[in-house]
Amino acid sequence: MIDIVVLNRNLRLHDNAALYYGSLNSNYIVIHLYDKNYWKANGKSVRQLKFSYECLQELDDSLKKIGSEINIFEGSFDDLKKWIKVNFNDCFIHINHCTDIDYFRKGFEKFKHTFGDMLKVYDDYGLQLTNFDRDTWSKNWNHVMHSSLIGAPKINKNSAETNLIKFNEHKNKIKSKFTNIEHIQKGGTSVANELLESFLNERCEDYRIKMSSPSLSEDSCSRLSPHFTYGSISIRQVYQRLNELIPLLDNKKDLYSFKKRLYWHCHFVQKLHTEPELEFNSMHRMCDELRTEHDNEMIDKWIKGETGFPFLDACMKFLKISGWINFRMRAMIMSFASYNMWQPWQKTSPLLAELFTDYEPGIHISQVQMQSGVTGINLPRIYSIPKQSMDQDPSGEWIKNLLPQLKNVEPKLIHSAELNDAYLPQIVDLKVSAKFARDKVWGIRKSKEFKEEARRVYLKHGSRRKRNVKTN
Ligand SMILES: Cc1cc2nc3c(=O)[nH]c(=O)nc-3n(C[C@H](O)[C@H](O)[C@H](O)COP(=O)(O)OP(=O)(O)OC[C@H]3O[C@@H](n4cnc5c(N)ncnc54)[C@H](O)[C@@H]3O)c2cc1C
Repeated sequence: MIDIVVLNRNLRLHDNAALYYGSLNSNYIVIHLYDKNYWKANGKSVRQLKFSYECLQELDDSLKKIGSEINIFEGSFDDLKKWIKVNFNDCFIHINHCTDIDYFRKGFEKFKHTFGDMLKVYDDYGLQLTNFDRDTWSKNWNHVMHSSLIGAPKINKNSAETNLIKFNEHKNKIKSKFTNIEHIQKGGTSVANELLESFLNERCEDYRIKMSSPSLSEDSCSRLSPHFTYGSISIRQVYQRLNELIPLLDNKKDLYSFKKRLYWHCHFVQKLHTEPELEFNSMHRMCDELRTEHDNEMIDKWIKGETGFPFLDACMKFLKISGWINFRMRAMIMSFASYNMWQPWQKTSPLLAELFTDYEPGIHISQVQMQSGVTGINLPRIYSIPKQSMDQDPSGEWIKNLLPQLKNVEPKLIHSAELNDAYLPQIVDLKVSAKFARDKVWGIRKSKEFKEEARRVYLKHGSRRKRNVKTN
């Protein structure tokens, strides 16, 4: 019997359950799926593909040292299922769970059911894949985070050839897609480890304050997010290293703040796992009645950074170049689209996701909904662009760097966006649009029906952490 390890978004050697358990008999092959339709589906993009291929490259190099390597299967889960059936009559499949978009989930579910007890799915992130219970979730998560890390896979003694293309050969075939994407983060476990160490030991100083600024956060946030998305490091590895160092390091408050976010990561991913419909529907279903029309021209100006509001446009330009921007600015970008532009989040969310190297559907979709006021359990917040502009870039230098046409303009005018012919026209009136949105969103929240549905949402998705579990 041969063991088949199917990799998805867990592209690391250590603490990788499917890879480790699949290797125990030293007779295994490792397969990664390249499904081009997946990379075109809801929010996926070539920049994410590029990052994931850098992770795969390092993993392939490491596997070669233990007699294994990555084989690429070009096709869907359905095609892979047929290929396995034709090629192996005695095999066992190992695969890590992955909470992802509808396109992936449907293929994955069918694949799992076809193989039944010839396949094992390993848990990830401390999610509750079955028997979901919000009241025990935190305890369960803590248990997973404190349990031992899984070791490196065993040496492979299998030398059987398959007709699958090898990773390097496949990469050469598709690498032309990656030209012109130069400034996004680099993938791979060694980069993830460097980021972790430099963050814990140095960069985290004043993390809690600097994280709000788009320029300071570039260096003072961990920048681990795409590594979590593509699994070049596990949340548990980071959590345990953090616990090891906290007693020895300064900046404890910053480190505890970071630790809390590791928990949030999984808390958000669980929401999409529990309710996959969230990819298309608002958490509070009545909120889908709020924004029923959309305006493609307006959305186009927003995503291109041509709204007429310099700070917002600079954020978009920065995101487009680097594939990342800090939390506060992501929230502001989304708030502008959903409140000031009054566009349905379902139309804007995938366009934004495509720009993020770290696109993690569970986090992204939940955050998009929170910043659009459609969860029913979070208080709606409309960000003020002039206030954020003044607070985060008082001198206007960061904005001017990204929008050089404003280099001779007074910062005060840049913040207020009163620029007449010196810049693009504003696509909305901030005050009028915010008042309209506030009236609509708060209007719908008053009814008894809304409150009842909000209670259902809380019971299903609301965090119970404060009551149940200590945070350190
Ligand atoms: C509209 C919107 C969309 C977002 N989309 C994504 C996304 O697709 N992928 C993604 O990883 N994050 C997303 N976030 C959350 C957050 O902005 C990023 O996790 C963070 O900016 C990543 O940078 P970092 O790794 O340096 O973060 P750090 O501040 O160093 O945080 C460490 C880790 O904690 C987790 N984390 C931090 N903030 C949050 C949060 N608010 N919710 C859940 N987990 C969090 C992430 O895994 C992050 O890597 C989104 C936020 C908003 C408002």
